[in-house]
Amino acid sequence: MLNWPQKAAVALLEYGVHDSHNATNRQRIVVANFFSIIGYSITFLMSISAFVNNNHALGISLFIAGCIFAFAHFLNGFVKHENSYKWSANIVQTCLIVLMLYLVYSGGKSNTGPLWIYIVPPVVFFFGGLKLGGTYLFLFLTVVGMMLFYPADSFLATSYTFDFASRILFSFLTVSLLFGFYEYSRQLAIRHTQQLSDKFEKQAMTDPLTKAPNRRGMKEHLLHEYARSKRSGRNACILLCDIDYFKEINDKFGHDGGDHALVELTKLLKMNLREQDKLARWGGEEFLILLPETAQKQAYALAERLRAAIDNSPVSYNTKQIHMSMSVGLAILDPEQSVDNAINEADKKLYKAKEAGRNKVL
Ligand code: GH3
Ligand code: MG
Ligand code: MG
Repeated sequence: MLNWPQKAAVALLEYGVHDSHNATNRQRIVVANFFSIIGYSITFLMSISAFVNNNHALGISLFIAGCIFAFAHFLNGFVKHENSYKWSANIVQTCLIVLMLYLVYSGGKSNTGPLWIYIVPPVVFFFGGLKLGGTYLFLFLTVVGMMLFYPADSFLATSYTFDFASRILFSFLTVSLLFGFYEYSRQLAIRHTQQLSDKFEKQAMTDPLTKAPNRRGMKEHLLHEYARSKRSGRNACILLCDIDYFKEINDKFGHDGGDHALVELTKLLKMNLREQDKLARWGGEEFLILLPETAQKQAYALAERLRAAIDNSPVSYNTKQIHMSMSVGLAILDPEQSVDNAINEADKKLYKAKEAGRNKVL
């Protein structure tokens, strides 16, 4: 259980996050909020300090910057838009850069203003990534360099020694390069993690023997197609196929022979399907085929073609021939009923096809 200061901190950081945001955007919003909170807390405190020291111009500038940071924070919550955090992040960055330029220009308190510019690299790299962040940083560095070294301090309201100005610039360049490298490694790591995650997700949805989608993979296709047929009003059909007497094939040719037959059968089915059709290994020697936007009559013809193809194409295995046949249960994926309903229906039909003597489509 969180106590109230923790709850308040979470509420401030997650301000503007809602259920529709994915994990990446959620993180961006939290970080945008975090930068804004740090931004207005520090600038308001420094603004008070500047007023106390009778530096009114600095005090007002810091106060305005603080208000803009606060606005950026609350914008996330006001604007119920998927991308509102981007505006908020852009305001934070722009305000930060302008404030930093002002601090360099004015010198801030006792000429310590330029010491704050090191905040810029992490912020612009985080929000803009390597390319955009790097571009912003390059422009910022060019402007700061011009301000610091333009003859006769024409772009400065104060004066820095050459040693101070050059050390600030070189150390800033070093920090920027380090942050750039850090951002580069971070992006590499993210890409690597994403690739791994995609690979594992694919593996989790694929049958290792036949390389066809497994039951989980097919469920995704079914739900997708179900939603589409609900929108378009055009039915899809499903075929539940089960190899006849497969136990006998295993008994006769061994388990490896059975495996080989399953792989070859998958190839045969795929060869006889259309581009848009989806085939999955539904269980042991059971396959489920999804035929999008297909009327029952067409689906029946296609199923019959598949059945005949299997019946007429024995599979070669170690100089022997494995003959297979399959029974098929056909059902309409009716948008008025559930996906499970259609699968049950196909299962019943398959059972009847088996009862009626196998090697049949029902
Ligand atoms: P029918 O469907 O015509 O009623 O008879 P069947 O012999 O095919 O019936 P059943 O569904 O009872 O048997 C299926 C067999 O498929 C049992 C199981 O050992 C075998 N099987 C399931 N998965 C695999 C696999 O990955 N490889 C091999 N070689 N056999 C498998
Ligand atoms: Mg079976
Ligand atoms: Mg069987």
